[in-house]
Amino acid sequence: MTVSAILKQKGHDVVTVDARATLLEACDLLAARRIGAVVVVEEDRQIRGILSERDIVRAVARDGAKGLTAPVDSCMTREVVTCREADTIDRVMQLMTTGRFRHLPVADNGRLIGLISIGDVVKRRIEQVERDAEELRAYITAA
Ligand code: AMP
Repeated sequence: MTVSAILKQKGHDVVTVDARATLLEACDLLAARRIGAVVVVEEDRQIRGILSERDIVRAVARDGAKGLTAPVDSCMTREVVTCREADTIDRVMQLMTTGRFRHLPVADNGRLIGLISIGDVVKRRIEQVERDAEELRAYITAA
């Protein structure tokens, strides 16, 4: 299965935030949308960074509650690893494992066109394992 097939099911919507928003505003967004990360984009949806709940926890641990007034720009990750629509689930799992993160923006010429989370990957892998088991059961029963 490819990233393209996952996006066909889940859609291309991605929650984004402006680099000038405060961390508190980013927290509101994460809580309201029940997600763990937001992508920081410029006007033309060029990817500028990614901010996850872990970045916010780090900022609060370092600066206390007053750290929440800092801009997203001050603690987002700037070197964002992305994938493309043609990439396979195995490739996505490899990127997430190597990079130790749970979110992978999908890019087309640097522009954001979707996001794959570790939850999306696990869901598809479980479906695949269940399909394989069912085929094996059918094969054994028919034999
Ligand atoms: P996560 O596991 O996705 O919540 O993120 C853990 C850390 O990795 C945080 O510092 C994120 O900013 C960073 N991060 C998340 N996704 C990516 C990505 N695709 N590329 C680079 N860094 C990322």
